[in-house]
Amino acid sequence: MKTVIVTGSTSGIGLGIAENFAINGFNVVLNGLGDEKEIEATRARLDTMGAGEVIFHGANMLEPEEISDLVKSAEKKFGAIDILVPNAGIQHVEKIEDFPPAKWDAIIGINLSSAFHLIRAAMPGMKERKFGRVISIASAHGLVASPYKSAYVAAKHGMLGLIKTVALEGAEFGITANAICPGYVETPLVSGQIADTAKARNMSEEDVVTEVILKAQPTKQFVQVGQIAALALYLSSEQAAQITGAALPMDGGWTAQ
Ligand code: NAD
Repeated sequence: MKTVIVTGSTSGIGLGIAENFAINGFNVVLNGLGDEKEIEATRARLDTMGAGEVIFHGANMLEPEEISDLVKSAEKKFGAIDILVPNAGIQHVEKIEDFPPAKWDAIIGINLSSAFHLIRAAMPGMKERKFGRVISIASAHGLVASPYKSAYVAAKHGMLGLIKTVALEGAEFGITANAICPGYVETPLVSGQIADTAKARNMSEEDVVTEVILKAQPTKQFVQVGQIAALALYLSSEQAAQITGAALPMDGGWTAQ
């Protein structure tokens, strides 16, 4: 039975990915912030979904030692970590001249550096067992920029560099590393930025959805969490062994333009 760690899986995309792995019989380590009782209810729900066991570790993605403990305790519990999904992320939308430096640090820390700490801690075990899958949730903003998202765009571009490097270092050890680059997905992260974007661009929130968010995507539709979860499951499989170092857009055609 294989084991997967999904960071930031108490909500949104990470939760959908964790759920799909649970349904398909993996052991799952959930992680993220939130209300303790709600997290336990989510853990218990996912635990009944498949043959594997679902546990929770509350490592803060800004704390390298807690990330290292997340990997160590999961290895101790399940014997091995087979799949890593660095997914935790936050957003802040503001002009660069007004962008708070503390927000820059937090976004680089949670959206990029946490993936480095996670992979660094799990790589020795993966190399030893000659199997590993790193599937990071980057963004279309790993490939192209949008105004007012300096830290997020920088972090996601950085994530692609990290993933390519890990792909090269893991190539002869049965380890693949890829980044999924979603366009807009309706999650709490996006709902939160609609208001900020409306303020930054002096527009109504309704206009932000049609004129900014869905305008970027030729399909004029949000990406669904289940679609990303299905790609993550495929990338974890043996059939995907030769896909490595790739940035895979799932963005309704956004980055084709
Ligand atoms: P979300 O807000 O629903 O979920 C974010 C998760 O990260 C939550 O579980 C939260 O608790 C966790 N998290 C935040 N700070 C943390 C910290 N310090 N320590 C541990 N966990 C922390 O957002 P989402 O939309 O599901 O985003 C998930 C990932 O997908 C992010 O990396 C985001 O950049 C990326 N993404 C989202 C979209 C989108 O449109 N929603 C598009 C492309 C990429």
